[in-house]
Amino acid sequence: GLSEKLGGVFKKLKGRGKLTEADVKEAMKEVKMALLEADVSYKVVKDFVANVTERSVGEDVLKSLTPAQQVIKIVNEELVKLMGEANSKINFPSKPPCVIMMCGLQGSGKTTHAAKLAKMFKRQGSRPLLIAADVYRPAAIDQLKIVAEKAEVPVFEMGQIDPRKIVKAGLKEAKDYGYDLVIIDTAGRLHIDEELMDELKDIKKIAEPNEIMLVVDAMIGQDAVKVASSFDEALGIDSVILTKLDSDTRGGAALSVLAVTGKPIKFVGMGEKLDEFEPFHPERMASRILGMGDMLTLIEKASQTVDEEEAEKLAKKMQEEGFDLDDLLEQMKQIHKMGSIKNIISMLPGANKVSDEDLEMGEAALKKTEAIIHSMTKAERKKPAIIDPKRKRRIAAGSGTQVSDVNQLLKQYDDMKKMMKQFGIGGGMLHGKSARR
Ligand code: GDP
Ligand code: MG
Repeated sequence: GLSEKLGGVFKKLKGRGKLTEADVKEAMKEVKMALLEADVSYKVVKDFVANVTERSVGEDVLKSLTPAQQVIKIVNEELVKLMGEANSKINFPSKPPCVIMMCGLQGSGKTTHAAKLAKMFKRQGSRPLLIAADVYRPAAIDQLKIVAEKAEVPVFEMGQIDPRKIVKAGLKEAKDYGYDLVIIDTAGRLHIDEELMDELKDIKKIAEPNEIMLVVDAMIGQDAVKVASSFDEALGIDSVILTKLDSDTRGGAALSVLAVTGKPIKFVGMGEKLDEFEPFHPERMASRILGMGDMLTLIEKASQTVDEEEAEKLAKKMQEEGFDLDDLLEQMKQIHKMGSIKNIISMLPGANKVSDEDLEMGEAALKKTEAIIHSMTKAERKKPAIIDPKRKRRIAAGSGTQVSDVNQLLKQYDDMKKMMKQFGIGGGMLHGKSARR
């Protein structure tokens, strides 16, 4: 898939200290192939690669201390551009109700997301009405009722009769009872067929929707593009909801959908629960496609905040003498400079699983670590291996902690040292500089 390919390219770039123009061109070849394979149109890919290459081979980038990171950053920025601006607005007409028509293949998430939208708009002060226009399976109407109840939004249904009649009557109901938002849940099929499209076209004619939203399952990957194109050609869509992003797909489809159809993704679904729903953020999606969480933002923030001279001194020292506990403390101070731990963690991949309690514990652990290191002698900080059990007890007492805390810190230090080695000593992102020059 696209993400794996790009991931591979960037791993290669990351592992290098210096880059040449040829390196960038080579990497861009693979980016190009990956994007083409993901069904992004040739013109879009060509422009994308041209932009990234032009920006990457600039003097500033190649001569910078972290060229690979810079190139990744440029790719990221161009990906964001490709996905357009964040825009989740739905234009309410001056004369209510606003009508949203959901369409998409069977199982894509129409019913679930009709309820998610209804709940969101209700919270914003609207009075939504859901119309049950998927009449082919009796269970479909029941399912809509169940999710609607969770959203505390009423459902208009007439059983399994002609959906055209249902929509007509539902709209009348909305006007009569002052609902200002109508969301029509339509039927889907496993594959696009003429009968389905004819039905949807009729519903469109009757309902004159303000917004036709195509619901696309991110897990179908590249097929998303074909689905979006077909629906757009046959019915005309206004926007896309990309669902099931909680799955392990990285969402490369997001890139192709917009690039090919020109229709924006307005919302994303991240789970079965009604709250697992949010406006589409191109930056987050670009990072996700790159597989790095908001790592780039973090790198950027780090390089802005960290004092350049300090960083260089630290990098030089680490290269010559290795990474000791004083360095760990220094790193921690830099982290503090960058802002609260909460902000930092929220930028890391998988961060939405971090609870407030975890975050508070993180802050507390940091303070504790600082206290422990301050209770050590200079020699101990340089060479933690010399700390014997007796000293551990003294350090614990001196810092108001337990011996187990001291042990834990020493273990953390070992782990971090290993990690620094993996990045190449001094190549860690926290000081924003590469020592390998
Ligand atoms: P429809 O056939 O298009 O109406 O799709 P449904 O709304 O019935 O959804 C199909 C299945 O996917 C159901 O089991 C939903 O609970 C599930 N589903 C919908 N959206 C999401 C999502 O964002 N994430 C996950 N994990 N499951 C989803
Ligand atoms: Mg449904």
